[in-house]
Amino acid sequence: MQAVILSIGDELIMGQTIDTNSAWLSARFADMGIMTIHHKTVPDDTSAIVLALKDACTLSEVVVVTGGLGPTDDDLTRHALADFLKRPLDLHPPSLERIRAFFKSLGREMPVINRIQAMVPRGVEVLDNDWGTAPGLKVKVGKALVFLFPGVPREMMKMAERDVFPMFQNHGESTVLTEALHTFGAGESTVAEKLGELMRRDRNPLVGTTVSKGVVTVRIRSEAVTQMLARKQLAVIVKAVEARLETLIFGRGEETLAGVVGKLSEKMGVKVTTAESCTGGLTATMLTDEAGSSLYFVGGWVVYSNAMKTRELGVPASLIEREGAVSQAVACAMAEGALRQEAADWSISTTGIAGPDGGSDEKPVGTVWIGLGHRSESGIKSKAECFQFPGSREMVRDRAAKTALNMLRLALLK
Ligand code: ATP
Repeated sequence: MQAVILSIGDELIMGQTIDTNSAWLSARFADMGIMTIHHKTVPDDTSAIVLALKDACTLSEVVVVTGGLGPTDDDLTRHALADFLKRPLDLHPPSLERIRAFFKSLGREMPVINRIQAMVPRGVEVLDNDWGTAPGLKVKVGKALVFLFPGVPREMMKMAERDVFPMFQNHGESTVLTEALHTFGAGESTVAEKLGELMRRDRNPLVGTTVSKGVVTVRIRSEAVTQMLARKQLAVIVKAVEARLETLIFGRGEETLAGVVGKLSEKMGVKVTTAESCTGGLTATMLTDEAGSSLYFVGGWVVYSNAMKTRELGVPASLIEREGAVSQAVACAMAEGALRQEAADWSISTTGIAGPDGGSDEKPVGTVWIGLGHRSESGIKSKAECFQFPGSREMVRDRAAKTALNMLRLALLK
């Protein structure tokens, strides 16, 4: 079974919005053994959309169209579908009611222009949108089943999960199951070296790596005639990968480094605090991006100036003077100071040079000391490690925050 995905919108063609819908849809189809043979991005132009629909329906059995179902004059997908099917647009009263109710739930009257979103080409099935205004549409054209969804990624994803994927589970000639194991702390080539022959391209399951923002992900794709066999094969390779990468792996699937640190902290009943200089609160942001973080994260400090390091965390001014703010001693003093101020079990601290200016021969841009503090029965202890991160200011700060979280994760695992 093959699929074509059409994304509609001038903003996509112009490069103002990146087409993430097509990537997400084809990845989900691949999981089901459905091959996406084309992605096509089409401008807000009725005849261009009609042409694209025509091509897509001759090429494949599943067509998913996203975007252009909004209420404004440049939203032309429903008109194009009506033209393509040579059918008129009829008002669909239940959709009109739903759109009215949606606005009412926001405490607003439905603007008149939104009425167009309740217009449906005759004989086309309506797919309710529980997450926004534009309903989805579904119609069979020859051998092709065509789905049309709003462009808003969240609405499109929710509707595809509900209306598209359940229809095609196990429809491919083979079943494909995938797993993603995320690692942090080693480069892609080191990970690849450790995986060795597991990454040979002629193997099934197929093992590959991708990198995004310092996280190297091992992607495993297992293909078999039955789901059970695919799952069995996948489990064997996941185990083999885990054995080779050990604690480099922090999580899988949707898991994040901060989320994993959170889960570990919660499980162990420990509280965490942060004392940040060069990361400016990024570590705390990552921790609090996770729902439920109040169970283990008590709060933290952003202490950018030397004076504030001293005033808030008790880092001796003479220590900063002697060692420099970017030093092992100050990273440790920040981590310990945070634990003295706050009844937490663990603290992480960062002090470094994020750049682009401020580097020296001795401490070039990207130098970051990361401290880890721990309160135990024998008192407060700390240690710090120095890292040299490459890249822009944004990259240095991101890697520093993640490395701090990873240091805490490894300490908690011990
Ligand atoms: P709505 O009426 O709910 O706005 P719509 O079908 O009119 O839905 P569009 O106006 O095309 O959707 O897009 C809405 C928003 O969704 C756009 O501003 C854009 O940010 C985002 N979007 C649209 N298409 C895509 C896409 N292919 N990938 C990622 N984002 C997209």
